[in-house]
Parts: sequence; structure tokens; C-alpha cells
Amino acid sequence: QSQELSQVRIDYHAALLALQEHGTRMVCTGKMHTDRICRLDYLCYSTEAEEFVFFHSNSSVMLPNLGARRFQPALLDLSSVEDHNTQYFNFMELPAAALKFMPKPVFVPDAALILNRFNPDNLMHVFHDDLLPIYYTMGQYSDLDEEARLVFMEGWSEGPHFQLYRLLSSKQPLLKEQLKNFGKLLCFTKSYVGLSKMTTWYQYGFVQPQGPKANILVSGNELRQFAAFLAERLNVTAEERPEAQDDGYIVVFSRSINRLILNEAELILALVQEFQMRVVTVSLEEHSLADIVRAVGRASMLVSMHGAQLITSLFLPRGAAVVELFPYAVNPEHYAPYRTLASLPGMDLQYVAWRNTIEENSVAFPERSWDQGGIVHLEKEEQERILKSKEVPRHLCCRNPEWLFRIYQDTKVDIPSLLDTLRQGLTARPSPKKARVASTVHPGRVREPQCQTSVQATNEAKLTVSWQIPWNLKYLKVREVRYEVWIQEQGENTYMPYILPHQNYTFSENIKPFTTYLVWVRCIFNKTLLGPFADVLMCRT
Ligand code: UDP
Repeated sequence: QSQELSQVRIDYHAALLALQEHGTRMVCTGKMHTDRICRLDYLCYSTEAEEFVFFHSNSSVMLPNLGARRFQPALLDLSSVEDHNTQYFNFMELPAAALKFMPKPVFVPDAALILNRFNPDNLMHVFHDDLLPIYYTMGQYSDLDEEARLVFMEGWSEGPHFQLYRLLSSKQPLLKEQLKNFGKLLCFTKSYVGLSKMTTWYQYGFVQPQGPKANILVSGNELRQFAAFLAERLNVTAEERPEAQDDGYIVVFSRSINRLILNEAELILALVQEFQMRVVTVSLEEHSLADIVRAVGRASMLVSMHGAQLITSLFLPRGAAVVELFPYAVNPEHYAPYRTLASLPGMDLQYVAWRNTIEENSVAFPERSWDQGGIVHLEKEEQERILKSKEVPRHLCCRNPEWLFRIYQDTKVDIPSLLDTLRQGLTARPSPKKARVASTVHPGRVREPQCQTSVQATNEAKLTVSWQIPWNLKYLKVREVRYEVWIQEQGENTYMPYILPHQNYTFSENIKPFTTYLVWVRCIFNKTLLGPFADVLMCRT
């Protein structure tokens, strides 16, 4: 291991001198610990203390310089999960002069991205909390290229999906555990600490019950680009995932350990008959991720019980459908990471949730351990309440026994009810569609807005507003171009909105003489793509 680091030649003495003279230099982005990412030169880590160390000297830099607020609660979130109190990052401070009395530092020459993985055992968490944020944090900083070193500080071992993390850079990621192999004091020549939260769409219910994030900033476009990158790294080449020539097929993603579909064969038969398509079954237990990505990448439909494996809908072609099955007493509306994903603009996926409403078709496991949904450890009364309940009430993460009890049930899928749900829920026959990506180009401002007024009579006036098309419209083919005009009488707090097809209009209704009107104009493409308002016009009749 230590050999690996020293292979990259750096001038050890120059590095040591730089550290001793300049100490650590840190410049961060972000106003709050929840949106902060820091870039540091010569950030060190003591493997003995298991602490990061910032060395002060005359030329060290610490921006933001928060003083003790750095501990309220932390400098930044080390994982992409917002404000999780087990995922905070901070450092200790020392004067650079203390280096004289410390073990000789070992330098990490690569540009490093230092972060916590949130839950590397779970495929959904791997993609949503780690891979996507890492990919786009690397995209944000040009130093974090192909050769960047990922450093995972959460303290877990590699985990079952480590190969996925390895696809993000050519260097082997380092685990916290491995850092001690390099020595007592490790200094990162150049590092970035923290992850972008820009790509996450779901919050897991630590503060309020789980649900889509309040302000989603990612669209299907970025997710699909990431998925294409990963597919390529998995050697699932574009040739293998063209627009399906055949009429497509359905992937049933099954779980073999728990939350089973008890009548999978019957379900498959029903799907074949209903859609006249082949059905392919995959599972994480039996297939490599490359094989799964290959299968899902050309599928028309992905059918699965609720669960982490559904994150592979990232790889579905546009136009495909996600069918998520929920066990008895679990309300699909309350557990929507995959619904939210499928519904992101530009994902272009259909989504249907089906829920088992027939208790007899459900097999529960009260005797299992609590983390597999067992409830026998609970008070008798509580057990009875849970068994009687027809729906898990909303709850916080992560150990709600009623939730775990219900979500780990096995289900015999009632075929007529599922087919019914599918017939109602699918708006179009699912099929990988020829990628006619809907345009998301927004109009620019309308140009040269003007108003002209005239007074007809003591109680009659006219207001003519005109403008030029937005500059970018000259270069676009837009199906429908409309203009929205807002007219507000000065001093009033309401306004009248109008949607207009042309570039001018004369208003006479509700227009009073000798009155000042404020007029806003903007352009709208295809009903939904709003442009910005032009500067407000002051029009005096
Ligand atoms: N898992 C699986 N087959 C199973 C049970 C679990 O592949 O029969 C995987 C699952 O996809 C996830 C991990 O094991 O990646 C943890 O599953 P868990 O049930 O804890 O989480 P969930 O799927 O509900 O998010």
C-alpha cells in the first residue's frame, strides 16, 4: 500500500518545507455547513488521533474563519445527506511548529476527494448518496479528474458495491482503515472535502417523514448522463443498448432473501400475456451489476417490490415504465424515492405503484430480528396494535418497528388487481422510445417592450403594449409561442394576467383614464417553459 503512494514522485523535502512554512490553506464555498465544500492544501490526518489536522503558520488561510462557530455543529457535512449528526467534518488545529515534534508526515500526492459514504451496503444509497454526488462533485472541480483519489472516511469496509466506486477514478479508493498503513501522519497535498448535494432528490426522514427533497435541483438529463458514464465503465457499450429493435421486454427484478414475490411464475405469465412481451428476471444475488445494467438498459418495463434494487431504473431507456409493488399496509405515497426519480423532468419514465390490499396474500415474519421486521420483542399490546393496523402511519427514520414489520412481508401478487392498476396507470404502451428529447430551452426576455396610451372619454382609455420576440427565438423551432402580460394599477396589489398570441395588444376593458399602470411582459414556449419578465413598463393613460 505505502508503495503505491510513493510511486507517484513528489519532492518529499519540498513538500515538507511547504507544509512547515505555509501550513494548511483552506478556501471553501457555501454559507452553511450543509452546503459547504472545502479545498485544502496540506490538510493532514493523524491516524493515531483519528482526526484531521490544520497546521497554522503565518501564511495559512482558513476561509471561512468561523472561530468557535466551526463546532456549531460542524464545518461541513462529509456525506451528501443533509445535516446528519454522524456525518460531520471538522479538524483540530496545531501550529506548524509542532511538526518538529511529530512523526514524519507521509504525503498523498494525488488530488483527493474526502467524503463519507452514507450506507454502502444498500444499492439505492450507493447511487443516490455517494456515486452521483461524487461524480458531480468531481465535475465541479477540474483538479478532481480521472486520476483523483477518493478517500472514504465513514469507517466501513469496502462493502458489496465497491466495484462501482472504483469506476469513478483510475486510482483505488482509500478506506479510513487503510490510512494507518501509510504512517502516523498523512498529509493530503491537495484535497477537496465534502460532497455536492445538487443531485440528490430524496430525504430519508430524519427530521420529518421521508419524501422528495423540498428543492430538487437535478433533472433526468444529468442522471442519464451519469448512468451512461457508468454503463460505459461497466463495459455495457452503446451498441448493446440501442433503441430496441424488437418490441422490447419486461425485467422483473426479484429479491431472493426477503420481501419476496411469492407467485413470481404466475406474475411473469400474466405480464407475458398482457403485454405480449418477453420477461427476463434478474436479482442482485444472481447477476452482476453489469448484466443488470445491460438488461435494464433496453427494457420496456421494470417490475419489482419496493426496495433498493429499483434504483436501477436510472438505466431504463426513455419511455419505459417502472412498476413498484408494495406489501400489505404500506402506502406507496409515503415511500417515494423511485416514484420521485421516475418523475423527474427529463427522466421520461412512466411510473405505476401497486399495493397489496389483501391481508391473506401477505406473509409476515413477527419472529425475525427487529431489523428484518420482527416484532416479538415488543410489548404484547403493541404487537397486537401493529397486527390490526391496516396502514403504517407516517413515521421518522429508521427503526420504526411497524414499518419494518410491514415492509419485510412477502407478497402473493393478486394478478387481476395488478393488471387493473397497470391498465389504468400506464398512459402509453411502455417501450423504449426513439430519443426525441423534449426541449427544455426557455425563452429569453421579450425585447423593446413599449406602451402607448390614449384617453377616449372621461371614463374610457386604451393601453397598447407591444414588444419584440426574445432573441433566442430566432434560432428555435417552437411549437407554440405565447406571451403573458400582467397589468397592475399603480398602488393596487392585484394584477390582471393575459395570455396573448401576438406581439402587441390593445387593452381597453378595465383601463381608466389618467391612471398609471405597471406592465410586465414575458414569453412562454409550449405552455410550460416560462421566460423572464422584461423590465416593468410604466404606462400613464
Ligand atoms: N437485497 C437484495 N435481495 C434481497 C434483500 C435485499 O438484493 O432479498 C439488497 C437490496 O437491494 C439492498 C440491500 O440488499 O441493496 C439492503 O436491502 P434492505 O432490505 O436493507 O433495503 P431496501 O431494499 O429496503 O432499501
